[in-house]
Amino acid sequence: MNYCSNCGSEKINWEVPKGDTHYRFVCDNCELIHYQNPKVVVGCIPLWQDKILLCRRAIEPRKGYWNLPGGYLENGESLIEGAARETLEETKAKVEVGRLISIFTIPTINQVMMHFVAQLKSDNFMPTQESSELRLYTVQELPWEKLAFNSNNFALNAYLEYRENSSARVKMFTYRK
Ligand SMILES: [Zn+2]
Repeated sequence: MNYCSNCGSEKINWEVPKGDTHYRFVCDNCELIHYQNPKVVVGCIPLWQDKILLCRRAIEPRKGYWNLPGGYLENGESLIEGAARETLEETKAKVEVGRLISIFTIPTINQVMMHFVAQLKSDNFMPTQESSELRLYTVQELPWEKLAFNSNNFALNAYLEYRENSSARVKMFTYRK
């Protein structure tokens, strides 16, 4: 942090504020404490009949690999609104977001990824700037070796378990690189 976003001062200290337990950026001029916390990523496992919609990434990182639609939660949004919006942005598909399936935490990059099962409202979907190709996969066809991120593998495995047993708990995992 080079300057305070509150007052513009360049005098920023890295210190543990009184009564706190963590180091923070603290403005020496206006005394504002600049808290930095993990970001929430929300995604869907979009279903059409018994198939799962995956997106082929048109952008780096992991361009060309298959991904579940998802992205950063925006301020003012619920988790479910965010998951539906990201799916719409990446696939043009409208979904009814359902049960939370998995929570995948990556402390090394300060992210918490939450995947929800979602029903497509129709089979209207199409490539977008973020997705070069969209495809409905049966469970047997899922491209496990060509998934973009570990969190996809985790969410899809959790979904398959839920599919076998609808009383299965939400699956949680903490990934440390
Ligand atoms: Zn300041």
